Amino acid sequence: MINLEVPRKLTTLVDQARQAAMAFLRPNSRKYDQAEHTYPKELDTLASLLDGLSASGGGAGAGGVRRTSGKPSTANMSVCLGTMEMCWGDAGLLLSMPRQGLGNAAIASVASEEQLARFKGKWAAMAITEPDTGSDSGAIRTTAVRDGDHYVLNGEKIFVTSGERADCVVVWATLDRSLGKAAIKSFVVERDTPGFELVRLEHKLGIRASDTAHFRLDNCRVPASNLLGTPEIKPDQGFAGVMQTFDNTRPLVAAMAVGIARAALEETRRLLTEAGVEIDYDRPTNNQPAAAAAFLEMEADYEAMYLLTLQAAWMADNRQPNSLQASYAKAKAGRSATAITLRCVELAGSIGYTEHELLEKWSRDAKIMDIFEGTQQIQQLIIARRLLGKTSAELK
Ligand SMILES: Cc1cc2nc3c(=O)[nH]c(=O)nc-3n(C[C@H](O)[C@H](O)[C@H](O)COP(=O)(O)OP(=O)(O)OC[C@H]3O[C@@H](n4cnc5c(N)ncnc54)[C@H](O)[C@@H]3O)c2cc1C
Repeated sequence: MINLEVPRKLTTLVDQARQAAMAFLRPNSRKYDQAEHTYPKELDTLASLLDGLSASGGGAGAGGVRRTSGKPSTANMSVCLGTMEMCWGDAGLLLSMPRQGLGNAAIASVASEEQLARFKGKWAAMAITEPDTGSDSGAIRTTAVRDGDHYVLNGEKIFVTSGERADCVVVWATLDRSLGKAAIKSFVVERDTPGFELVRLEHKLGIRASDTAHFRLDNCRVPASNLLGTPEIKPDQGFAGVMQTFDNTRPLVAAMAVGIARAALEETRRLLTEAGVEIDYDRPTNNQPAAAAAFLEMEADYEAMYLLTLQAAWMADNRQPNSLQASYAKAKAGRSATAITLRCVELAGSIGYTEHELLEKWSRDAKIMDIFEGTQQIQQLIIARRLLGKTSAELK
């Protein structure tokens, strides 16, 4: 049976993550929102602390969790709980944390033991999206052609989180477009590889502390041993290998959304209390001030996104397939964080819209949680396919 109480042994980790968020992230939140594209040097100390936490089996970033056979663990749960706390501090800064990139999650998910050891300690970004392909990741056009001991990569990758700052980028490319999704593999490309060119950095609505890069791959040669997993093309498996990454990263993005929503709710509660609005848990909402009723409604929504996120993490930790639950969590959390943060801006009135408070920033930061790692609409599509037993060709 699923038990969604936070295990007692994780409370220390959650406390540590909260302390770190209070000390390093929240105080620098506005600074790096305004200084877009400036590296937040304060993160170096925190990153070393996180490395220590990860080494002890915990963690609070997006570094990812390896699925090994064997006993149940609390690894996914601890990373999700830590991420919630960190994003309560600042999501853009968490996404900028050295060695905690989404590419690290990809490596953790699909790399061989040898590759895992070789890329240990590297900060890895993740590059799937292309100018002509976002949601439909099976249609990517970047090619990888074997040439002796190397693969030669050609194509374009856009919106790569931490692309400029990371040590390497996990690039999705196809070995043979005519063989469809099964031919899509991921390659670790070191940032200084000739032919791997940074085109530009994006200016964004939210998570402005995090850099978002556009790359061109022009006859970029990577060692054949940097192909993650196996080069074999198995048409019956689609691109199951690379898709496994999402089972790890979607609950993480949901956890980020939970952290932002919680920050906004806490701040709104403080402002409402200051304004004399009492939130009463013992009275029906229709018998309370409108602001209190709205707050209670948002808290119920928050609880749902929080529990769905823990469910997806718990299933992964207990070796149960969690693709459906990962999409439930991501869809609910992305949508609710966007709605909750905007409603908090509304409830706080003009103060909520100004830079006196972080409420307006959180409403900008939250929206990306409903976009990257698969948009709201794509999560709903995946959920519908699974519930109705339809293939991607049958339900588009
Ligand atoms: C700040 C930021 C950081 C990012 N970081 C990364 C990263 O690190 N690595 C990476 O690879 N990508 C990254 N992305 C890209 C992101 O994952 C894509 O933007 C996302 O997958 C959507 O793709 P798209 O932008 O091409 O939109 P499209 O796929 O063109 O979709 C446009 C709209 O149509 C909807 N839509 C599309 N198909 C369907 C359908 N079948 N049914 C219903 N609705 C549909 C979508 O939901 C969306 O609302 C990032 C994006 C941003 C903005």
